[in-house]
Amino acid sequence: MTPGRALLYATSVGAIGLGVRSVTRGAVPVEVAAGAVVAFASVVMAGVVEPRLGMFADVVNRGEPRPDAPRLALTFDDGPSLEHTPRVLDALAAAGARATFFVIGRKLEGERARLVRRAHDEGHAIGCHGHAHDRLFALRSARRVRDDLKTALAAIADVTGSATSLFRPPIGHTNPTIASVAEELDLDIIGFSVRGYDGTARADEAKVRARLISGLADGAIALLHDGAERDDFTPVAPAILPDVLGAMRDAGIAGVTVSELIAPVD
Ligand SMILES: [Zn+2]
Repeated sequence: MTPGRALLYATSVGAIGLGVRSVTRGAVPVEVAAGAVVAFASVVMAGVVEPRLGMFADVVNRGEPRPDAPRLALTFDDGPSLEHTPRVLDALAAAGARATFFVIGRKLEGERARLVRRAHDEGHAIGCHGHAHDRLFALRSARRVRDDLKTALAAIADVTGSATSLFRPPIGHTNPTIASVAEELDLDIIGFSVRGYDGTARADEAKVRARLISGLADGAIALLHDGAERDDFTPVAPAILPDVLGAMRDAGIAGVTVSELIAPVD
């Protein structure tokens, strides 16, 4: 059982216990009841915003380490970007590394679609990051979640000629609806084990570089961004990627796609 699910069950058992106690031995003071409601809501919210807890969905946050051939998966969200994705692709090609691009479906047109085709042709994996990159995705109905993902998946298949099974929810939130639609569409929900907090306009290049390089480990999934969701700032990942790839080379860790990282060993 994941830590998040254990926490959810424990909190639920506590809530039921409190309810039973209220019925059998008289109502608990209002402050106790209010505290219990706040605590339960906080636990549920933590499960929605922190997929690494694995509360509502089975999220893949890392691969099995392979000491004989260490590798990790670099992942790039929120692209493609005409300006930034080519720099990422060039750096990966120069280092002989593969990566995974979690693309936003609505961005897959014209030149940007051609960039994604280039990434696919160069051996990188293309994953789904939603069509609209809806920030309220975790509040939407199953039907709306399904429609959004199907639209994005069709756009990806159209560009690359093959279906993807990799899915990273927009802004990383998961809940039971997103988990069940992902299962219905045969998608693996991909989280991460290391991040540089590079996905904002205020991201500090030196700090992002240091966080990522200190988190490089066999089996890791690293979260980076090759685009800004609304194309309104320059992501720092393209600038620091050569250093990250250099650190991987020095540590003897290869860059592989998420699909390669999580494939069962035969
Ligand atoms: Zn995103």
